[in-house]
Amino acid sequence: MAANGKLGTGKKRVLVVGAGAAGMSCAHHLANHRDKFDVTLIDAVDYCGGQAFSVQIDKERHGAGWLNQGVQGGSYIFHHTMTMFARQGYHADPVKLQVSFGKGNQFWSNVYPTKLLERHQKEIKRFKWMISIVRWFEVFFALIPIKILMKMFFFSDEFANTVALPMVALFLGTGQYAPDVPSIILERLVTSPTYGMWYPGDKLSVASNQPPMVVFPRFEHFYQSWRKDLESKGVTVRLSTELTQVVKRDKNGVVVKLIKRTPTPDAHNPNSAWVPQNDGTADADAPEETEHYDEIVFCVLADTAKRILSRSATFREKRILGNVKFADDITVTHWDSDYMKKHYENFYNGEQAVEKLSGVDQTTRVNFAKKMFKPMYYIKMYPQDLSKLEMCFDCTNYQSQFPPEVPFDKHVFQTIYLNKNNKNLWSIDEIDENKIIRKDWWHQLCHSWTHYAFVVPWMWLLNGRKHTRYAAAWTLVNAHEVAVMSGIAAAVDLGAQYPEDLERDKFALLSFRLYYLLTYGKWYRKKAKQEGEGRDWASGEYGSVYKGPGVSSIERLTWREENGMKTNDVD
Ligand SMILES: Cc1cc2nc3c(=O)[nH]c(=O)nc-3n(C[C@H](O)[C@H](O)[C@H](O)COP(=O)(O)OP(=O)(O)OC[C@H]3O[C@@H](n4cnc5c(N)ncnc54)[C@H](O)[C@@H]3O)c2cc1C
Repeated sequence: MAANGKLGTGKKRVLVVGAGAAGMSCAHHLANHRDKFDVTLIDAVDYCGGQAFSVQIDKERHGAGWLNQGVQGGSYIFHHTMTMFARQGYHADPVKLQVSFGKGNQFWSNVYPTKLLERHQKEIKRFKWMISIVRWFEVFFALIPIKILMKMFFFSDEFANTVALPMVALFLGTGQYAPDVPSIILERLVTSPTYGMWYPGDKLSVASNQPPMVVFPRFEHFYQSWRKDLESKGVTVRLSTELTQVVKRDKNGVVVKLIKRTPTPDAHNPNSAWVPQNDGTADADAPEETEHYDEIVFCVLADTAKRILSRSATFREKRILGNVKFADDITVTHWDSDYMKKHYENFYNGEQAVEKLSGVDQTTRVNFAKKMFKPMYYIKMYPQDLSKLEMCFDCTNYQSQFPPEVPFDKHVFQTIYLNKNNKNLWSIDEIDENKIIRKDWWHQLCHSWTHYAFVVPWMWLLNGRKHTRYAAAWTLVNAHEVAVMSGIAAAVDLGAQYPEDLERDKFALLSFRLYYLLTYGKWYRKKAKQEGEGRDWASGEYGSVYKGPGVSSIERLTWREENGMKTNDVD
């Protein structure tokens, strides 16, 4: 049995499993205490970043040489994420989100009003009223699935499926599970001044703001820099190394089995033979090595953790981890502009635009849209079943490494086909094969109400027990910020310090405290002195708008920098 770690040094040997945002941030905060922890970070694939990665594209054709695949951007409430960017010398760039929902007479947008909204004026007013009722009686409505809420308030199927559900689907990428999302999420989207994407709501247009967002830097470079930084602080990073089994966890620590994976040229090693699947024979002959640690932090998906724990899982772990639901989605990255024109509204549509809603003049918005409508995010409702969606990004309009003006037939799109059980609805075969850049499968968290009833409130019963902690986005909502925060929480729970600058950032501290309370059942007590870096990072309502380092104030600054138009705007 191979022992590892520095036995006898008094340091805790911690195995961090998974080098996505959660694992990296956990290792980072443990690594700040070299005297206390001996950290090993492993990942089954051959790169760091997990779901957050970049791919190369043809710069001559598309105007940029790379693309953040899948994970694209976030909100100004992502204080921890942007601080991590800054620590490695990277920045996110601002963007105002424009969305295109539906097609033809079921098209609407946050940028200008359309006939669909005109047709549903009464329901839009009722929607606004319903949201205030839900806000007042939040405890009662919180976990009721949106599909039930819509029925309780007698909304038409067209309104529920083409207006209400897409608003939510877009927020969390909840996809086909949007009808099962708890009502509190829909309500908070419109009423929360901090994370409410559609706050403050609009009694004529439902949503008429362009939410200020940020787009992320080149993940491939950011995570490579972060990995080097971890190694320089003494973390042992072992890529192409997969945890196959936790053999036992007792007073002596944790005994695990690992295999060495064969790296593929693109670093995205396929699932190994240890993962239940149809075609999984990769590395079937790899010998399992046994290793010993004092503590383990699972920064992998819940079902992976449950499988790895196998017979060593406790009853609670089986129940709680087993209640996390996932769906298999596929993204097709392509530049087929004809597909986009057929299925989405990509340009200002004069036939659908309306200049008045309930007698109120809308020409300012319409005139803006005539010149400036450049959707970044699209949602299409399938005509055969309006409650099922397809989602898409216009990455050229969205990501900040692209020039502001690129001919539409050179744009890069990413179409997401949701839940392979609904494959019969997908129009995936209509995309021109010659214009497909790549396809990626994702195992995505379903933000169903059951997640908030049977998983999230019970994580504190698992964390810190049997030398085990869980850090990953699925522990709350599938967002990069949650992943980063969850990694810090695991590190803090093990005895690492929450960063002083983030502690002085009142919104970061509040988010962290609430997350830590919810998932560990503990209240984090402040330790930093009041004065110092971080004090002025939180601005706006409740301090939610991040004004610290790691975010620029110039749109497409990345494009400017990469093309020799450098400015000194970045903090
Ligand atoms: C298509 C898509 C779009 C998204 N867009 C956004 C967005 O725009 N904004 C946003 O904020 N969030 C977005 N998200 C969500 C966000 O990407 C995730 O929440 C976050 O990156 C997850 O980080 P994580 O560390 O929890 O998990 P992951 O990134 O999944 O990391 C888990 C790691 O564990 C490794 N692993 C698994 N099993 C083992 C094993 N047995 N042994 C060793 N290693 C193992 C995996 O290889 C992986 O690297 C998106 C997600 C997807 C799928």
